Amino acid sequence: MLISGMQAKTVLVLGGGVGGIVAANHLRRRLPRQHRVILVDRERAHLFQPSLLWLAVGDRTPASIQRPLERLLQKGIEVITGEITEIDPTTRTIRAGGQDVSGDALIVALGADLAPDAIPGLAAAGHNLYTLEGATTFRGALAACRGGRIVVLTAAPAYKCPAAPYEAIMLVEAAMRRRGTRGECVLDLYAAEAGPMGVAGPHVSAAVRSVVESKGISYHPLHQVVTVDPVGRRLAFANGATAEFDLLAYVPPHRVPAVVGASGLVDESGWVPVNRETFETRFQGVYAIGDVTIVPLTMGKPLPKAGVFAHGQAEVVASNVVWLWTGAGGRRTFSGEGQCFLETGDGRAGLGAGNFYGEPTPVVTLRRPSRWWHWGKVLFERRWLRQWI
Ligand SMILES: Cc1cc2nc3c(=O)[nH]c(=O)nc-3n(C[C@H](O)[C@H](O)[C@H](O)COP(=O)(O)OP(=O)(O)OC[C@H]3O[C@@H](n4cnc5c(N)ncnc54)[C@H](O)[C@@H]3O)c2cc1C
Repeated sequence: MLISGMQAKTVLVLGGGVGGIVAANHLRRRLPRQHRVILVDRERAHLFQPSLLWLAVGDRTPASIQRPLERLLQKGIEVITGEITEIDPTTRTIRAGGQDVSGDALIVALGADLAPDAIPGLAAAGHNLYTLEGATTFRGALAACRGGRIVVLTAAPAYKCPAAPYEAIMLVEAAMRRRGTRGECVLDLYAAEAGPMGVAGPHVSAAVRSVVESKGISYHPLHQVVTVDPVGRRLAFANGATAEFDLLAYVPPHRVPAVVGASGLVDESGWVPVNRETFETRFQGVYAIGDVTIVPLTMGKPLPKAGVFAHGQAEVVASNVVWLWTGAGGRRTFSGEGQCFLETGDGRAGLGAGNFYGEPTPVVTLRRPSRWWHWGKVLFERRWLRQWI
């Protein structure tokens, strides 16, 4: 039911990452033209983060995994490029690039900030796998590497895409084998967490660990790094252990973006609490989706931060804004369904899929690594960069 002559409204989408671009696209397609959809990001380009792992081993270039956000203009989405320095959720007003902008609805999709500085020495010692710059410098260092000890490290137990560091070490292993230098390398994965992809359950976790170890990679769980010596190339862990490396790639600790932290949207968890079905915050007309949120699960750990969830939540929130403003469609809720490809090297991948809202624990299965799932991931990447941006 479209109410003709209705007052024009504005929806502000904060962030042009996974959640932000999906939300903005859905809103623009379904809202009548008199309503404005404005997307705000500090970056000029959208980066498809899952492809950073392929970039890190030389299988992508920085240009091939980014698209200019200004392309959204052609679809009728307004784009503001600038740092968001203030968010007032009571008036739904933000300050970005020096200007104040208000909306009738606000969708906060600002992701997680990366905090390598939380571990002394880490940034100087290694390559940050989770940034374009770090994955690119790692690619160069790996290309020059003729042997030695290569370490992948998770510097905190919870991080976005729990599969990524496990994929990274397996892709590195395959790359060294392809280049004929595998015999000269020792590969280690030091993890702050107790096991791979813990929220997916003990069976999935054990299966991933076994695939990693079958490749001759040494896995060291429950090793929380406390300091890194960039000169001596040595890691020191909270359990008293130390480890040396020649080449280090790391997943840094995460924290909520400072502007969100200062907005009053965050609770004691350090993230934005939301209704787990609708992603409404405690402020009228203000939603938060993706990595910036916290969704506690009955099993004791929060819903993992992952693009697949940011995507699903964006669709739900966009649909509900359209429904509230126009009466079209109906109220939707987020089901907790998600899936994730797990690259294992040699053009193969597994697929973890299930319902993360399962009670009392998520119900997730892991499909055996095959060429099929690898090509599924490649096709997903291609479609993503064409469809949304
Ligand atoms: C190496 C790697 C591999 C991954 N693989 C997978 C995978 O296979 N499957 C999967 O589901 N997920 C994967 N992920 C995780 C996935 O990319 C994230 O969970 C997803 O991007 C989260 O979406 P989001 O919209 O919440 O945040 P993001 O996509 O991070 O977007 C946040 C946006 O906000 C902008 N921003 C932040 N602060 C400000 C500010 N103050 N002012 C202006 N703009 C700001 C940023 O520039 C960014 O564009 C991977 C991540 C990495 C790093």
